[in-house]
Amino acid sequence: MTRDPKHDILFEPVRIGPKTLRNRFYQVPHCTGFGAEKPGSQARFRGMKAEGGWAAVNTEEALISSDTDYWPVVSTRVWDEDDLRNLSLMCDEAHKHGSLAGIELTHGGVHADGRESRRPSLGPSQLASDYHPFVVPKAMEPGDIRRVREDWVRAAKLSRDAGFDIVYVYGGHSYLPLQFLSPFYNKRTDAYGGSLENRARFWIETLEAVRAAVGDDCAIAVRFCVEALGPAGVELDEGTGFVVLADHLVDLWDVNVGSITDWSKDSGASRFFPEGYQLEWTGRVREVTAKPIVGVGRLTNPDRMAEIVRSGAWDLIGAARPSISDPFLPKKIEEGRYGEIRECIGCNVCIMKAEWGNHIGCTQNATAGEEYRRGWHPEKFEPAANADNDVLVVGAGPAGMECAIVLGKRGFRRVHLVDAAPEIGGVMRWIPRLPGLGEWARFLNWRAVQLEKLKNVEVILGTELTAKDIRSYGAEIVVVATGARWATDGLNGYTHAPIPGADASLAHILTPEQIMLEGKAVPGKRVVVYDAEGYFTAAGLAEKLVGEGHDVELATCLERIAPVTDETLEGPMLRQHLHGVGVRQRPGFLAAEISEGFIRGTDEFGEPVNVEADAIVLATQRLSNESLYLELAQDLDALRGEGIDALYRIGDCVAPRIVAEASYDGHRLAREIDSDDPATPLPYMRERIVLESAAIGS
Ligand code: ADP
Ligand code: SF4
Repeated sequence: MTRDPKHDILFEPVRIGPKTLRNRFYQVPHCTGFGAEKPGSQARFRGMKAEGGWAAVNTEEALISSDTDYWPVVSTRVWDEDDLRNLSLMCDEAHKHGSLAGIELTHGGVHADGRESRRPSLGPSQLASDYHPFVVPKAMEPGDIRRVREDWVRAAKLSRDAGFDIVYVYGGHSYLPLQFLSPFYNKRTDAYGGSLENRARFWIETLEAVRAAVGDDCAIAVRFCVEALGPAGVELDEGTGFVVLADHLVDLWDVNVGSITDWSKDSGASRFFPEGYQLEWTGRVREVTAKPIVGVGRLTNPDRMAEIVRSGAWDLIGAARPSISDPFLPKKIEEGRYGEIRECIGCNVCIMKAEWGNHIGCTQNATAGEEYRRGWHPEKFEPAANADNDVLVVGAGPAGMECAIVLGKRGFRRVHLVDAAPEIGGVMRWIPRLPGLGEWARFLNWRAVQLEKLKNVEVILGTELTAKDIRSYGAEIVVVATGARWATDGLNGYTHAPIPGADASLAHILTPEQIMLEGKAVPGKRVVVYDAEGYFTAAGLAEKLVGEGHDVELATCLERIAPVTDETLEGPMLRQHLHGVGVRQRPGFLAAEISEGFIRGTDEFGEPVNVEADAIVLATQRLSNESLYLELAQDLDALRGEGIDALYRIGDCVAPRIVAEASYDGHRLAREIDSDDPATPLPYMRERIVLESAAIGS
């Protein structure tokens, strides 16, 4: 395969200060949960992208001193030499593959609340953080300004010595330099406040000092939101005004939009933001600088990338999420393997996992974050030691599909992926049909292409298998991936009991699958969607039904509507959007009983509430479809006698989880299937996590 010549422009080298990027693909800083604490994971994760063709790979926020401490959120730290020793592993990995390594030196200012360091936060003025309103900073005195500048220089020198090629003076996302620049944070009346020139002074002096210290050896980059799209930063005219003032000190402008409180507008979910959406603002920076510019916007389409570069708007195509979902995106474009690109679906589960779980993962790329501790390579698959077996995978949802693909790539003699449904996909047959989630179909599309290509994998649809069928199927290895279903009786985590009167065999009570897959009609005008789970399903159904002309109320026993979507940066916009399309929202409502015509319960204060409804949709909790597996597992000796050497279960049929976890489960089994004794059928996979500490200080 050869690449289309119109994409050649993406492979031109670009000079940034004393360094040269080998092409125009640039992995912008993004969080992982690894920091300097998990140096092996950090190094391999970034190194994999370097191998995949990214000309530069960057750390996440790297806190320049204990003045700025975000714990428990894990960022990188440059507090002492040991931190840098750990981070130098990442530089080695990047250099091994011909990429530059960058470090995003950061001071969080007012937003870093010093929980571990027990130091007060600092800000240009004593104004409570808009991100953590209970944090009130110390207004910085001249000595504080001097000290932070010196810390930045110290961190820059340490970074250079550790091997970093690009050093940031990062403003963010409303961090300290941007807090000085923004009149929202900066109310000073001294030389650091007032006019734009004065507000820019802190940043410019810091840049001057860093440049003087390491500018001959490292490229100096500034990252900042040129348009806050809200109050917590600067508007575009001041953003570009700052570029003019600081341009002579900067080798690379890394520009984006949003702020810490409006981060959802930078890392925009596909629900609200199309590919390339930031160009509207960041494209304007070209008007005021001739220096290289990198921008982001969930770009995966090479035509669009080439157009942007050709237009002159940006010099480099920046990516966080597209590089997580496919570390080999540049290589695949370079080699013309366009059909192989695993496009980001814009779900922001990577953020949910990195920020709240402190270890990144990805819906599309099961190997993301596992490069070091499990040794997984997204593009390389070892032949399995037991590949001379036939494998039957029952269920073609995210778990089953991923498992079959990896088994196929590991060279199993025959893999049969069987599903009762007429199509592959399991839950992904209907999730992308929920309003706003259309881009999630990329998950299924990529897997459909892979399955089609693998000659040793056969997909058999419309075939429901019983335990008896499986026993006589003829496969030596059986993987049960039968998924989960929504409770039909209102069982939920809040009461640990069904809701009296809830019974989805009745015409007016419905589950998500009944609506989305079975086509059960929703009777009447007034619909209550009752949510006890809190992610996207109930909210999506409410929006769908209002769009179909129903009068919809979204009620939940949780304190907020769809609180899990806050973890994916969708929550506030989603609640506004639901309100805008006419979905009434009733948080804090605990259902006690359902009858024809109403759902009765209590409000957040325990007061009785009666909501009239012609139809009630229950999204309360899911339950594993485990009966088939349990029936098979009852008599393992008999199975062995019938020629089945190993029986596994994966995905939601073990425990209902998000798609990323189901897919990961399938991937993991297929990667590890030959490391267990095949003569001993296992009820589930054995835990084997390589301990991170092995790499620290080595
Ligand atoms: P997961 O997320 O774990 O992959 P899903 O619920 O998305 O789970 O998918 C499970 C798939 O298994 C569904 O497509 C369903 O049709 C299929 N399935 C369930 N039971 C059987 C069975 N007995 N025979 C064949 N396919 C089945
Ligand atoms: Fe994209 Fe979702 Fe993967 Fe994040 S988790 S990189 S948003 S596919």
